[in-house]
Amino acid sequence: MATFPANCEFPARVVAIDVGGTKITGSIVRYDSAEAEPVVEDSRTVATEAMKGGASVLDKICSLACNLAACAPSSPLGIGVGTAGRVDAKSGDIAYANDLMPGWGGQPLASALHERSGLPAAVLNDVQAYAVGEARWGAGRGADTCIMIAAGTGVGGAVIAHGRIVRGKHGFAGEVGHMASSVATGIPCACGGSGHLEGVAAGSGIEARFFEATEEHLSGAEISALAAKGEQPARRIIKEAGFALGQAIAGLTNILDPDIVILSGSVVKAGAEWRAELQRGFDSQIPAIQRDLPIVDAELGGAAPLIGAAENLIDSL
Ligand SMILES: [Zn+2]
Repeated sequence: MATFPANCEFPARVVAIDVGGTKITGSIVRYDSAEAEPVVEDSRTVATEAMKGGASVLDKICSLACNLAACAPSSPLGIGVGTAGRVDAKSGDIAYANDLMPGWGGQPLASALHERSGLPAAVLNDVQAYAVGEARWGAGRGADTCIMIAAGTGVGGAVIAHGRIVRGKHGFAGEVGHMASSVATGIPCACGGSGHLEGVAAGSGIEARFFEATEEHLSGAEISALAAKGEQPARRIIKEAGFALGQAIAGLTNILDPDIVILSGSVVKAGAEWRAELQRGFDSQIPAIQRDLPIVDAELGGAAPLIGAAENLIDSL
């Protein structure tokens, strides 16, 4: 659980913001005591309109946060954010964002929030925030070491050790999607590299590989449905996506020996065969004694990154 300041009055509230490429969700996360389960309330969602540029997105986030703070029954402890893009651990700036959010890279998110609201602000990457929420209050409750994998449009990840997010030197720890994968050899990655896990295991990778094989543009869900009927090449592509992710989880497990691995994202719904291949890929790379590692679905849904962002803010005070 979060570490509250010694003089904290309860109920305590935090403004929490989850910034994605298509929508921005803001909420108040309320704590009735230092031990109480966080309650997410007053949720509001606005369109990101990422193509309007980074400054526009920054302004939307600041306005949403200030409105939530103004409406809260007591002055919030601060503003916690989980956002798409890589976040500089020291400054809370957006260090890098991909083409889905043009101009988001370089935006001074934490300092802008502090200047606009007068409140402390703390920023994590969205998968890191998700991981903190799930590790403390969701599927990883009670676990010491967790690996979070978010397999959606891309493949993100995060590591929790001793209940705390591992951020690394720059804040970029857990970028699982850009690990080399033998299944992905020769396949280009959205980052400009080649042979990375994301190229085969992400929804975008599955769709691109299917298009390359068939010249048909289908969604990941449609390709999964074809795979479930046994149709090729959908079945092969879905199986390879699962196997590659399982191998990657095994690699991380060899390093971290976690209590649990938590999965989220649209690709997790790719079907029973995807899941079986994930386990097969995992088992192929791990000693028998560790093959009972729980690899489970996330539990909190959209509340996870909000709770994680709030907890990170509280820990930063
Ligand atoms: Zn890459």
